[in-house]
Amino acid sequence: MDNTKEQIREEVKNILDDYLTAHKYRKTTERYAILDLIYSESSHFNIDTLHEKLTQRNFRISRATLYHTMQLLLECNLVLKHQFGKNLSFYERAYNNDFHFHSICTICNKVSEHTNSKLKAQIQNTQIKQFVPSNYNLYIFGVCNICARNLKKQQKLAKLKLKQSS
Ligand SMILES: [Zn+2]
Ligand SMILES: [Zn+2]
Repeated sequence: MDNTKEQIREEVKNILDDYLTAHKYRKTTERYAILDLIYSESSHFNIDTLHEKLTQRNFRISRATLYHTMQLLLECNLVLKHQFGKNLSFYERAYNNDFHFHSICTICNKVSEHTNSKLKAQIQNTQIKQFVPSNYNLYIFGVCNICARNLKKQQKLAKLKLKQSS
């Protein structure tokens, strides 16, 4: 087992614990189970896949409860929500998660993470007049190489280029 990962799982559990105590919210096993599952994941997930994994772990949690818990985790900044497309909501760990930007394929909706230290420094050193930034997100939309290949196969790539240049 990865030690640092274990440590982070313990830390986020304590953050949630404090938050629930401070707000006099109930400390249900489900809430901790959902948090723990999220922090054992390395990447993005949506409600569907999370629900599936909880079921696999024998947690029978309703979607309503799951949505409610995600809302709670958003409130205490343990989770980030991304809206990559109209009907494309993703969540990911917020605590101790390093800067990365996302590329989103507009055809198959594949989301990938990328790091770039130059870009990170540039964003963090950017001064914004009369504004104190707290956080930021960067999404780059486009077509992944698999979809690009498929498009090419269907000889639709030419059309796409035509559209882009107009
Ligand atoms: Zn794609
Ligand atoms: Zn991410």
